[in-house]
Amino acid sequence: MTSITVLSGGVGGATFLRGLLHGVRRGLLPGADRDAEVTVVANTADDIWLHGLKVCPDLDTVMYTLGEGIDPERGWGRRDETWSAKEELAAYGVEPTWFGLGDRDLATHLVRTQMLDAGYPLSQVTEALCRRWLFPTYGDSLRLLPMTDDRVETHIAIADPDSPSGRRVVHFQEYWVRLHAQVPAEAVIVVGLEDSSPGPGVIDAITDADLVVVPPSNPVVSVGTILGVPRVREALVAAKAPVVGLSPIVGGTHVRGMAHQLLTSLGVEVSAAAVGLHYGARTAGGVLDGWLVDTVDAATVDRVREGGLRCEAVPLLMTSPEATAEMAAAAVALVS
Ligand code: GDP
Ligand code: CA
Repeated sequence: MTSITVLSGGVGGATFLRGLLHGVRRGLLPGADRDAEVTVVANTADDIWLHGLKVCPDLDTVMYTLGEGIDPERGWGRRDETWSAKEELAAYGVEPTWFGLGDRDLATHLVRTQMLDAGYPLSQVTEALCRRWLFPTYGDSLRLLPMTDDRVETHIAIADPDSPSGRRVVHFQEYWVRLHAQVPAEAVIVVGLEDSSPGPGVIDAITDADLVVVPPSNPVVSVGTILGVPRVREALVAAKAPVVGLSPIVGGTHVRGMAHQLLTSLGVEVSAAAVGLHYGARTAGGVLDGWLVDTVDAATVDRVREGGLRCEAVPLLMTSPEATAEMAAAAVALVS
């Protein structure tokens, strides 16, 4: 195995990728070369324009995590961050004040926005940013590809008794960061998704891979949006490589994040088995060949297998790169 493609969101995907790379480079993944190429197709539907700047939370979480620039406690943003610019903006009363825009992080958004303004597509901007964060350690063996160069934004419909329709739509970041996903999501609306095109290299990364992995990322607003980019789902269905996923739901709850509320809005039960069956088996119109659930969900393995998926129960808590590398190794073994 010389090439692995991963469809990633932010914190869950990035944490998994760190463990996967740890496993690959130490020869812990059955059948995988130590210098196997890893391609990350990252969700960009979380992206938001703030104060005139383009912010790409999932791309940056992956880039900072794998480039050792991440704040390990928060799991997002830069380590050793300061917040002077945010405080100054708030002192001017400039909205929004709820988004955590750190001083160090701001430099990334400034570079990105300048390059976009100069006419570079997001994919080339991301490659330029990764030259600082990923290239020194990984060279050409690790690529970070935005799912699309087009503007796609997830919005969440929430109840609003003051609005004539009884509903209000907020950007996903507002739902998550300001509202802490504490009000029910009535609908998930991904603006621009149907008209988007896959970013350069995305379809080839799926078609040419020796293994495709769906990490424990949010199935709705991370992996769901990637799968919604036209031609991506079809590429997965047609891929020659096995496609294996790892459950982001452990013991009936998301480990961190807000998968719970969003699955409910889609009518998908919040369980490891239901998420695996929601992705579905490639033999039955879905996108996966195998699905790993946590040992606490071992009783649901048969239900997943009945849906046509290979399935095993293994520990799925990403407590360290070593533990996460074992998860990745189990995922490879499941579909080998
Ligand atoms: P986000 O974009 O930052 O929300 O990150 P992702 O979409 O990539 O991943 C978020 C999901 O990761 C959450 O909904 C959790 O269900 C899942 N997650 C976080 N930590 C763990 C873990 O240790 N184990 C597993 N199995 N899932 C996790
Ligand atoms: Ca995200």
